[in-house]
Amino acid sequence: MENEEGNVFWVKIDGERRLATINLVPGNQVYKEKLVKISDEEFRAWDPYRSKLAAAIMNGLEILPIVRKSRVLYLGVSTGTTASHVSDIVGPNGIVFSVEHASRVARDFLDRVASLRPNIVPILQDARNPKEYFSVYGTVDIVYVDIAQPDQTEIAILNCKTYLKKDGYLVLVVKTRSIDVTREPSEVIRTETKKLAPNFEIIQEINLAPYEKDHGMVIAKYVG
Ligand code: SAM
Repeated sequence: MENEEGNVFWVKIDGERRLATINLVPGNQVYKEKLVKISDEEFRAWDPYRSKLAAAIMNGLEILPIVRKSRVLYLGVSTGTTASHVSDIVGPNGIVFSVEHASRVARDFLDRVASLRPNIVPILQDARNPKEYFSVYGTVDIVYVDIAQPDQTEIAILNCKTYLKKDGYLVLVVKTRSIDVTREPSEVIRTETKKLAPNFEIIQEINLAPYEKDHGMVIAKYVG
């Protein structure tokens, strides 16, 4: 899949067809991913076993709403594996507001990712308090949520109501075992998408197996 701006690519690396993004910081690796130079561009292999967004693309994601120049609010950035590829995709004129509440991983993210990428704004905050993100200005085009909390859907909705523009997209990673270990993953995802119903149009639900067990992704459009 290539998104509409053509900034997610398939490239041949060691004879294998791999998903990749153009490296915004040439020469720099974030998680020991392979780098490959083709013509004037350096590509970074994007590992679906390490990034759920890559897993969703491998499993048939129909619309990747994150494009060049997008403004993204990313909740649960951790050490930045996926956020670094999102930063590559939005490019120098996009922005990735990156929220993480655990100071140890946030420090690693700052040192190894955010400090090298001018389009990343790190925010050390609890995603339950979106009003406390003092460095977010204006609305965003996409809210990406990967926080593995039992109330992740409620947190996602609160953040969308605070920052997402009308007709913007929510990309929600549903960790089914964080919500209820006793229920079938597809049933958990259905319950979570129902919570979105009043304010969102569901575009797609994707199972992330075999790359990520017990995880799904929901893509939804914010209708306000
Ligand atoms: N998105 C990352 C990636 O693909 O590279 C992985 C995210 S990891 C599964 C979940 C992260 O969410 C953890 O780093 C955790 O500290 C963070 N998190 C959990 N609850 C949070 C909250 N309420 N506010 C901010 N961050 C939170």
